[in-house]
Amino acid sequence: MSIHYKCRHCGTSVGQLTEHVDADALGFHHLDNEERTDMVSYEANGDIHVKVICEDCHEALTRNPEFYELESFIQ
Ligand SMILES: [Zn+2]
Repeated sequence: MSIHYKCRHCGTSVGQLTEHVDADALGFHHLDNEERTDMVSYEANGDIHVKVICEDCHEALTRNPEFYELESFIQ
């Protein structure tokens, strides 16, 4: 099982973990169901894909919050 982190806005791969990972150790259980469904997807092969925001997008969003609203609307 591996965990892939991808930017939710530009799709850039932010990183991945390939070691054995206990899903509970990642803190997903701290999220409510809606957040978990939105952020985390479980693939058929056992991989987990997590949507995050990369540094570039984070910076862009910090400078230009309207962009974030637009992206959220599209999704
Ligand atoms: Zn990005």
